[in-house]
Amino acid sequence: MSAFPLQPGSTIGIVGGGQLGRMLALAAARLGLRVAVLAREEGSPAGQVSAVELVGRYDDPAAVAKLAAISQAVTFEFENIPAAVLAAVGDTPIAPPAQALAVSQDRVEEKSFLNAHGLPTTPFAAIDSAADIAPALARLGAPALLKTRREGYDGKGQAWVNRTDEAEAAFAAIGARPAILEAKAPFVRELSVIAARGRDGETAVYPLGENHHEGGILRTTLAPAVVEQAVADEALRIATTLLAALGYVGVIGVELFQLADGTLLVNEFAPRVHNTGHWTLDGCEVDQFENHIRAVAGWPLGPTHALARTEMTNLLGAEAHDWPRLAADPAARLWLYGKREAAPGRKMGHVNRLSPL
Ligand code: AMP
Repeated sequence: MSAFPLQPGSTIGIVGGGQLGRMLALAAARLGLRVAVLAREEGSPAGQVSAVELVGRYDDPAAVAKLAAISQAVTFEFENIPAAVLAAVGDTPIAPPAQALAVSQDRVEEKSFLNAHGLPTTPFAAIDSAADIAPALARLGAPALLKTRREGYDGKGQAWVNRTDEAEAAFAAIGARPAILEAKAPFVRELSVIAARGRDGETAVYPLGENHHEGGILRTTLAPAVVEQAVADEALRIATTLLAALGYVGVIGVELFQLADGTLLVNEFAPRVHNTGHWTLDGCEVDQFENHIRAVAGWPLGPTHALARTEMTNLLGAEAHDWPRLAADPAARLWLYGKREAAPGRKMGHVNRLSPL
C-alpha cells in the first residue's frame, strides 16, 4: 500500500505515452518524483522524459499490472481505457477514480450524470437505431447533432440531422453505433474550465479559457477569458460540483458552451489534463500538469491564478517545422512534443504568447 503524500523519489505510473504524459512527467521531475509510462511504442513523447518506459497496449491488463507493480500511484493521460483494464492495477491507488473515467466514456451517461447533479447540458436523447431519431428530433428540434455514445474525439463520429429523412444516412455516417442526439446548443462562444481536486478534497480552479476550433481540432485558447463575474461564478460552481460528485482526485477539463444570455451548458468533461489548459504552463503560477501530479501524489495543490493573459496556439502537423522562427521570437514560449512524424492535423507542439493582465 502507498502512503500519502508520496515521498520524493516515489514513482507515478502513467498509462499513455503522448504529449500529456510528457508534460506530466516534466512536472513530476521538477518535484523530485519519478515517472514510469506505458506507451504503445518505444521513444514515445512521454517515454523520452521518463525514468521508465514500458511498451505495451493500454487495453492489455497484464501491461497495466506491470506498470502498477513498479508505481506507488497510477494515473492516465487519455480516457478511452476500458474500465475493466483499470482493475488490473490491483492495490496500487489510481487517480482520477475509475468512475470518472467510466462516466466520461459514454456521452449519454455523462450528460445524465451532469443533469442529476444540477449541471445543465443541452437536451439530448439516447439513440439505439435509426428509427429512434425521428421522435427524438421532434422533441429536440432540428437541426440536432448525432454523436457516437463512445470513443468520439475532436469532432469525429458526428453528423448533423436537419430533417427526419436524413436519419438513416446520419446513423450510417457515424457507423450505425449506439449514439446520442443533442439539441443544437445556440452558443456564442466555447469556454473551458480546468480544475483540480486533492486527496483531501481541496479544490483549485483555473480562470476560464476561451477556445477556438478549426476542423474539429483546438486551434487557440485565450485565457483568462473576459467574462462577467456571474459567468465566472457559475463556472466555479460547475467545476467544484462535478469534482465533488465524482469523488475526484487530479485535474479535470470541462468544456462549456456560453449562450447569449450568459448561461453555461456543459458539453463534456475529460478526466485528465486538457489541451485547453496548456496556457497554464506559462500563464499561471502552478500549471495544470504540476497540480495533477500534486493531487495524484497526495500533495497540497498549488495556486491557480493567472500571472499573464495568454494565447495558446496549437502547432499542427507541418506547422511545427516553423520552430526556428518561433524559437527566435521573444514573445513566444515554445513547447515541442518530440514526435517524429508531422502527420497533417497531428498535435506536434504549442506556443504560448503572454501579455500583461
Ligand atoms: P465534442 O466532440 O462534443 O467536443 O464536439 C465537438 C464540437 O462540436 C464542439 O466543440 C462544438 O463546437 C460542436 N458541438 C458539439 N455539440 C454541440 C451541440 N450540441 N450543439 C452545437 N454544437 C455542438
